[in-house]
Amino acid sequence: MDSMKPINTFVFSFEEGNASKKDILGGKGANLAEMTNLGIPVPYGFTISTESCNQFYEKNKTIWQSLKDEIFSALAVLEKKSGKTLGGETNPLLVSVRSGAKVSMPGMMDTILNLGLNETTVEALARATENHRFAWDSFRRFIQMYANVVMGVDHLHFEHILQSKKSEWNVKHDTEISADQWKEIVKIYTLIIIEKTGKSFPQDPKDQLLGAIQAVFESWNCDRAVFYRALHNIPHHLGTAVNIQMMVFGNLGETSGTGVCFTRDPSTGENIFYGEYLMNAQGEDVVAGIRTPENIASLEAKMPSVYQELLQNRILLENHFNDMQDIEFTIEQGKLFFLQTRTGKRSAQAAVKIAVDMVNSGDISKETALLRISDEVIETLLHPRLDPKEKSKKIPLCIGLPASPGGAAGKIVFTAEEAIEAAKHEEKVILVRNETSPEDISGMHAAKGILTACGGMTSHAAVVARGMGRPCVSGAHDLQIDEVRGVMKIDNLLLKSGDYITIDGSTGEVFEGIITKIPPNTGEDFATILEWAKQVKRLEVRTNADTPKDTLQAIQFGAEGIGLCRTEHMFFAKDRILEMRKMILTEDTEQRKKILHSIEAFQQHDFEEIVQILKDFPLCVRLLDPPLHEFLPQNDYEIQELASLMEKTPQQIRERIDHLHEVNPMMGHRGCRLLLSMPGLLETQVRALCETKKKFPFAHIEIMVPLIAITEEFVQLKNKMQAVIDSYGFDIPLGTMIETPRACMVADEIAQNAKFFSFGTNDLTQMTFGFSRDDAGKFLPHYLQEEVLQCDPFQVFDTQGVGLLMKHAISSLPENFKTSVCGEHGGNGDSILFFDRIGLTTISCSPFRVPVALVAAARAAIINKK
Ligand code: PEP
Ligand code: MG
Repeated sequence: MDSMKPINTFVFSFEEGNASKKDILGGKGANLAEMTNLGIPVPYGFTISTESCNQFYEKNKTIWQSLKDEIFSALAVLEKKSGKTLGGETNPLLVSVRSGAKVSMPGMMDTILNLGLNETTVEALARATENHRFAWDSFRRFIQMYANVVMGVDHLHFEHILQSKKSEWNVKHDTEISADQWKEIVKIYTLIIIEKTGKSFPQDPKDQLLGAIQAVFESWNCDRAVFYRALHNIPHHLGTAVNIQMMVFGNLGETSGTGVCFTRDPSTGENIFYGEYLMNAQGEDVVAGIRTPENIASLEAKMPSVYQELLQNRILLENHFNDMQDIEFTIEQGKLFFLQTRTGKRSAQAAVKIAVDMVNSGDISKETALLRISDEVIETLLHPRLDPKEKSKKIPLCIGLPASPGGAAGKIVFTAEEAIEAAKHEEKVILVRNETSPEDISGMHAAKGILTACGGMTSHAAVVARGMGRPCVSGAHDLQIDEVRGVMKIDNLLLKSGDYITIDGSTGEVFEGIITKIPPNTGEDFATILEWAKQVKRLEVRTNADTPKDTLQAIQFGAEGIGLCRTEHMFFAKDRILEMRKMILTEDTEQRKKILHSIEAFQQHDFEEIVQILKDFPLCVRLLDPPLHEFLPQNDYEIQELASLMEKTPQQIRERIDHLHEVNPMMGHRGCRLLLSMPGLLETQVRALCETKKKFPFAHIEIMVPLIAITEEFVQLKNKMQAVIDSYGFDIPLGTMIETPRACMVADEIAQNAKFFSFGTNDLTQMTFGFSRDDAGKFLPHYLQEEVLQCDPFQVFDTQGVGLLMKHAISSLPENFKTSVCGEHGGNGDSILFFDRIGLTTISCSPFRVPVALVAAARAAIINKK
């Protein structure tokens, strides 16, 4: 770096940066710098740092003088290198102004191209390129973009003019519009700007530049960017960098073009060069999906040497960054330029395949591969596919591009707003658009799938859907969509808003009606990743399961036992819930004994099946913890039914229910409190378990009690359990859930009596925050929106508060005392990172999250060991 520069500089030329400076230069700027220093042809430019964006907000959204000075001196250097001048009357320099945060947020912030054009430079550009049509087309694009992004004029006004002029001139494609016609359009555009804003379009290129930089800074906080950050857990304080770069033109005629390519197939992960391009076009034409691009392979015949250069750089860039790259390029009159490289977004299937392939080829280690597999990747892979049998009986209505894998079925909606509204009512919808734009992002998230008529595999819809794990079919050209009337036509078939369709994002097919989905076939690479995860992780990964079916599923996914068998869940079947209700409601000791007898039989039956599936793996059973309000009869019919079974009147049952009614059942008569006050309940369950062990001596049974707050609660229950176990002569470890703040504080005392702890982080979160698990949904969304909280503490473990309680409890335990987590957090990657760090022994989660937990535990071990 230039030693003459002041240390607090905010502006860096591409030669000054490198890929490790993403914090300061943003991802795009850092990689442009890295490519420049690798000798790859990158148009000259400089980056204004992310820190400037933060200062911009601190200084009341103004670009302060010393920053302006730095920008203009960097501009002077750029002018010197390029031999062109911004605003120059002979050889004008045009620049692009692009956002670029540390973490890629594709399409969320603003970009301005062709900056530097005005009524003088447009003529100079026409002379320099000997292409008047191109110069005036560029000028109208610039005016439209600038007016929209910087001056806030809706681009529909411009589109409207363009469309009406095209029909007046009887012109179908923009490429048929002449220089003079563009000139006429430019005149109208400048008048629109005056009409809509009361201001003229700025003619001074330096004013244009400052206006554009300001707009890019401001776009960091536009609604869609804020939403995207919230969705992907990207901190709001990072700020965006701004990249100013000499323009190169892909629309200078038939030897110019622009494209996007991936070093491997981002959908399947196959190691093939993959991409799309458009001749005589600017970059936004490819991304916006307005014209449908051509497959990269066809470039070989058109421009063999450019194609070879692309292939060489494909290898160079992938090897250099050691990961699949997403590359933007422009060809200006036969010369190739690279405008961007970044780690390519990929489908979940591709993520796993690329990681495994790169380990097998010796490019990356197993650890690096595991670090690249996120929770979302695993969750998406476990997403259902369309049932092939059912599918084979249907003829697709049309076929588009397989933009994001997986099947989705639902009602057609044509706007993002409708999708959001439908999601509120838990309705499944497919968002159907001509093409999506970043404003659609929350609608895309709310929809089960996305279908577009235009756009390629790198269109906005495709990129965003892949990132979100939403199935997507893009570029289904046979669709004629009328978003305003809420209808779409395929040949003679007319479908309207509310009609059902199914899309297959893995094949691009679109079907009328609903096709059932089946569990996904995760494949060999997925199994390899799970295998590596098991080799690397430290935490034992168990499952929360209470049925033989769930147990089997979890074991197939790699669970190493059951960490929580919620015995009350064994009573959800119709005949069983009646027994449970009777047991809760009866006041007659003899009747209770009888009911307990049949409960014992149910439980033993299920335990026997479960231990046979588990074989050597442990089964940790939690004694009954039925929150009473969840189990009591809800309506007249249920009350009537129970009354006749219990030979009581409905009135008597109602009175009993009223008697048991609790104002705050989540903190009420449940858990160990019920076990202590309801004679016989505990013994019944322990006997069922001992009988199971008697029949299947290999069973590794552990028993724990719920909701302990006081050591004496545990001691009394333990003594009762021990008496039953001793009568069988077994040795069964007895432990407890730790779910109340008090239990954490007196953990040392409880531990003197218990063999193990399992932190019930659902209740522990509820009781530490004082947020009811049942009611927090009423205010948590508001808390998240207003950033009172960064994430929902019932999903992502609160390491700061609840974590402190947990750490306190763990620090007071004897060495080698076993501790686990069996709340929902046991299946959440961020939470697992913490659990591994503080030295828990085990995590336990629902069966479908076991693969997520296995990989997250491996990632945690790698990160925490560093
Ligand atoms: C918990 O509270 O975290 C727990 C696992 O128990 P439940 O969710 O059944 O209350
Ligand atoms: Mg609990």
